[in-house]
Amino acid sequence: MRTATFTFHGVLNDFLKPSKRGKHVAYTFDGSPAVKDAIEAIGVPHPEVAAILHNKVPVFFSHPLQPNGHVHVFPAGPELDLPEGYTLAAMPSRPYRFVLDVHLGTLASTLRMLGFDTLYDTNYSDKEIAHIAQQEQRIVLTRDIVLLKQKVIVHGYWLRSQHKTEQAKEVIRRFNLHQEISPFKLCLRCNGAVRPIPKEQVLDELPTKTQLYFQEFYQCTVCHKVYWKGSHYEHMQAFIEELKQES
Ligand SMILES: [Zn+2]
Repeated sequence: MRTATFTFHGVLNDFLKPSKRGKHVAYTFDGSPAVKDAIEAIGVPHPEVAAILHNKVPVFFSHPLQPNGHVHVFPAGPELDLPEGYTLAAMPSRPYRFVLDVHLGTLASTLRMLGFDTLYDTNYSDKEIAHIAQQEQRIVLTRDIVLLKQKVIVHGYWLRSQHKTEQAKEVIRRFNLHQEISPFKLCLRCNGAVRPIPKEQVLDELPTKTQLYFQEFYQCTVCHKVYWKGSHYEHMQAFIEELKQES
């Protein structure tokens, strides 16, 4: 048996048992596995990894693990000083688009509310999510570490929190989206484009009080759901301001 030592930096420690966080992790192996296989066997899904130094040299996922090697594994972050041209997975061009794991319906609505193109369906299988991500260069958001380890997934993020509001904040921070928040652009229900619409065109669909008190309306171009700046709007604005202030 051979041994290599791994050091995981920053938030990658979230995937380690508490007793191993911030410490060197010994990994025993046969043959010469790819460094990616060792990283995932220890518990860290590859989409969370932004850089790998093997014996102080930047390497790619397929690099064979060397006996007695020391591997430093880094998450994405502005503090990362990498050699020119080195990247494990170039990010898709902005604006980023997302595909969400099942059970994340509230996060899907929140991201759409903030203007981020987000696919979500309670019937998606893991395979479908991975396929959509691959075909459409979407970022996978999930609470399932096993899903993120699927080979074809290039970009993804494991939501640390189980709390809905905190999850949205995590995504905004991780992908630095503060300046791209653009509400009333996407339908919360279907992700279709939302456009302003004259009040008289949607009058029949409005509750009586809404007809009386509101003048500005928006409609989804796909499912035709009508939106207006109702009671939840102030709450939503406060949340958006809170997010923007973090930047
Ligand atoms: Zn819609």
